Amino acid sequence: MKNWVKYLSGFATLLLVGLVIYGCSRNPVTGKKEIMFISKQQELAMGAQYDPQISAMYGVYQDTKLQAFINEKGKKMGKISHRPELDYKFKIMDSPVVNAFAVPGGYVYFTRGIMAHFNNEAEFAGVLGHEIGHVTARHSAQQQTKAQLAQVGLIAGLVAGGEKFAQFAGQAQQGLGLLFLKFGRDDETQSDELGVEYSTKIGYDANEMAGFFATLKRLSAQAGADAIPTFMSTHPDPADRNRKVAALAKGWQQKDSRPNYEVKRNEYLRRIDGLVYGEDPRQGYVENNAFYHPELKFQFPTPTGWRIINTPSQVQMAEPQGKAMMMLQLGKGSSTLQAAQTFVQENKLQVVEVKESIQVNGLPATAIVSDQVSQNQQTGQQQSIRILSYFIQYNGLIYVIHGMSLQQDFDRFFQLFRNTGEGFNKLTDPSKINVKPERIAIETVPSNMTLQKALQTFKVESKRYNEFAILNGMQLNTQLKSGTLIKVVEKK
Ligand SMILES: [Zn+2]
Repeated sequence: MKNWVKYLSGFATLLLVGLVIYGCSRNPVTGKKEIMFISKQQELAMGAQYDPQISAMYGVYQDTKLQAFINEKGKKMGKISHRPELDYKFKIMDSPVVNAFAVPGGYVYFTRGIMAHFNNEAEFAGVLGHEIGHVTARHSAQQQTKAQLAQVGLIAGLVAGGEKFAQFAGQAQQGLGLLFLKFGRDDETQSDELGVEYSTKIGYDANEMAGFFATLKRLSAQAGADAIPTFMSTHPDPADRNRKVAALAKGWQQKDSRPNYEVKRNEYLRRIDGLVYGEDPRQGYVENNAFYHPELKFQFPTPTGWRIINTPSQVQMAEPQGKAMMMLQLGKGSSTLQAAQTFVQENKLQVVEVKESIQVNGLPATAIVSDQVSQNQQTGQQQSIRILSYFIQYNGLIYVIHGMSLQQDFDRFFQLFRNTGEGFNKLTDPSKINVKPERIAIETVPSNMTLQKALQTFKVESKRYNEFAILNGMQLNTQLKSGTLIKVVEKK
């Protein structure tokens, strides 16, 4: 969770996507006339509307040099694409998830996670081309943008009502943390083709794209629920992609006919030296059943065995069976009582009990129990979710901790909800505050050796060898020549 004050308004709007307005226009890539859901003006408006919301949701990663690099390559590629007139925009999202995506109007996003996993400029250019391809072929314009329920959080959970509750909690439990845009397989195949074409046309060796598909495959094979590369999940089978990409690359290189195509491995690695790698603990982390936020300086206890997801706008906690969930987010209003009232009104809740002017570890607070009653669409029966909410004033903000379950399960979870809400406290322990993220460090191999030996030389923990083999796009027994650059990490 970070910088979340200004983000809260954005979520509801993301759900409103998918206005179906038909019109006929010519597809820029295929040249065919086809029915489009939206006009070009609407496409541009959509992009302009989403971009601040997406930026807000994930946070923009600040790295002037890396940003300048993706702008330069992105603009260059936009110019040789099928839609050179679009004003393309490129951003790096502050997320460890390995993903890239594009939205209508020419907005292309890379996560810092994917930037860390590219091993040369050509791999980056291939994915850049793939994403620009979704824009130029107007794939995103033909699809509804799907924001994941987990992102929309409390409100969606409540609106979904009783019968959907378990499903919603279940989704949160799986840790689906990043917005994804789902395209059909044909769209993906077409984007791969465009990725090859565009990256070749700006002078990169498109065969390298295949290397990155291999990285994606290895990542998904070893991924815990935390690290499922969503970029991968909607894309065609990697082996298949590799063969197609190699054949296409050959074709485009013959047409384009330069003497040689760039890979630029060392140049790329130097660019990502110092890039934050993995979760950034400065934005909040869990340790021994407690959540700590070093920047906002608060902490609260977390229930044992629950799944915890930290996003820029909220911290979500899901009970393993999906029977209950908790979340911490920011309230609206200048006092705890006002924030409680706003919450009740906005969600049309029935208040069961209110405790105002209480204190939570010396901080002014209001606690309420409320019900959200909804009707099951199929059975017509009423179902209700009961919520215990603490509104706590601290450092000029109102923090809200909700615990919720179906009404019949509420008593079972009440004490757990209460422990977390009443456990909210200031964070003053310097050892918890002064945490540092891991960053990519580029090292030079001192003599001929295997990757495994090199990792050992640079004091990588042996349990992380496999992770670093994937990160470097190599096998542990890959023979490295003296002077080869490799990625390791350091805490800084
Ligand atoms: Zn794609």
